[in-house]
Amino acid sequence: MSNTAELFAQEPLRVLVLTGTEPQPFTRLTTWFESWAAKNSELQDSMVVQHGTAAPLAEVSSTDWLLHDDIAHEVGESNLIIAGADLSLIRAARKNGRRIVVVPRTEHHDETTTDQTELARSLARHGHVLLAETERELHSLLDRAVKNPALTVSEWTDRSERAGVELEQIVADLGDGQTSLATVTNLLPTAGAAKVPVLYVGGLGRSGSTLLNDMLGQHGQLVAGGEIVHIWQRGLVENNLCGCGTKFQSCEFWNEVAERAFGGWDQLDLDSVMKAKNAVDRNRFVPHLLAPFVFRSIQEPLAEYGDILVSLLRAIRDVAGVPVVVDSSKQISTALMLRQIDSVDLRIVHLIRDARGVAYSWTKTKKKVEVTDGDALMNQYHPGLMGWRWLSWNVIFSSMRGLKIPVLTVQYEDLITDPRSTLGRIIGFAGVELGDLEFLGGDDTSITVNLEPTHSVAGNPSRFKHGEIALRLDEAWQEKLEPKMRNLVTAIAFPLLRRYGYKTSLKSGDKS
Ligand SMILES: [Zn+2]
Repeated sequence: MSNTAELFAQEPLRVLVLTGTEPQPFTRLTTWFESWAAKNSELQDSMVVQHGTAAPLAEVSSTDWLLHDDIAHEVGESNLIIAGADLSLIRAARKNGRRIVVVPRTEHHDETTTDQTELARSLARHGHVLLAETERELHSLLDRAVKNPALTVSEWTDRSERAGVELEQIVADLGDGQTSLATVTNLLPTAGAAKVPVLYVGGLGRSGSTLLNDMLGQHGQLVAGGEIVHIWQRGLVENNLCGCGTKFQSCEFWNEVAERAFGGWDQLDLDSVMKAKNAVDRNRFVPHLLAPFVFRSIQEPLAEYGDILVSLLRAIRDVAGVPVVVDSSKQISTALMLRQIDSVDLRIVHLIRDARGVAYSWTKTKKKVEVTDGDALMNQYHPGLMGWRWLSWNVIFSSMRGLKIPVLTVQYEDLITDPRSTLGRIIGFAGVELGDLEFLGGDDTSITVNLEPTHSVAGNPSRFKHGEIALRLDEAWQEKLEPKMRNLVTAIAFPLLRRYGYKTSLKSGDKS
């Protein structure tokens, strides 16, 4: 922490909330702040709130308007300022060495005729302001700022000589070509953008998703989070091993993520997070997730868990300092849930592997390497059951295009035999620059991948294999899956096996 930051940390807290001069009421800002203020009543004497055309606050004393001179005075006195994306206010705060927490006014909520979202996101991306687009984000920022007032100290004072994008430049860029900027942002995700691009690996377990996750994690523009769906149970409750080999709760990466997202893991009420998750992210809620306007009971847990997940995903991206998060959760419900979250830019990589290979793999016993307290085995299932599951899961994932989700189908066999072009397709689909994929190596006889550890949560034991690894197609099923079972799976999975170009001839028992 710098000397300035230390100095600020000793100041008594003074919070200033300004709704600004626009005629439309900014009720989201005032009610969000009020619900936080109610929980922090001991700080009420240090809060100055201007509610403008919104209703006066019930829990905190507030005033409708502050005169210009009063605002200037309050800005000078306050160490925590919350407002819309008001440029003159941001400049005034900057003169005082402060960053503002900005809640952008939106057209969608009838709060303005000039939507502030893009401007606010851009300002936040360049470090001028702190951004809160949801109530939870605002509360989390306030909680953190109370604990650590240095958070609101600006690196951008008018005396600053730092290289970077100045306030005026950001505004000029937006003013000159708002449309083109929006388009570019959509196509090429930027580190710090408010909408979190998530590259989601969907498909059935044992299709090679762990290897794909780890390979994508080697690319400089992607962070591989592994099966993020399991973070609460396997990470926080069971404290299993992170992909880096450290116990989850001791992993520095995840602790930094938690600090950013929630002010630390201990700030989360894990029971209520898991309760919200279990009320929304399960395959039995697929119909609800497809039509939340019909199945209204899903709306509340969806909003609640969605906020938590967005904070988490955004923090993963920001701590890693890359534009795109890879989530290899694979589940159908998780994909459909992410689709319902406005702040997530979802793209699905549908990973498919020969049904017979998948079914055979599920007959083998595998030890859960990540469980360090005692032995635990991964589940085993009958090939017939896995044949059905293979068919239904893959039909569902391939039909997600019909829901207007971008879906790229990739075959495990292509990933192993031609990783360069397969990864190239995926990375292009993620919207980031390809780069030279220097982690791929080998020669004509063998292709290798050099795997550095990732901080992936959960996955197959193969995620602990690091270093130079030769890619070999796992075709043990051709020899080892009993002909009877092999034919059963082939018969069940037939329609999709054909569609993806897998051989569908049946095998006679005596020749195997
Ligand atoms: Zn780790």
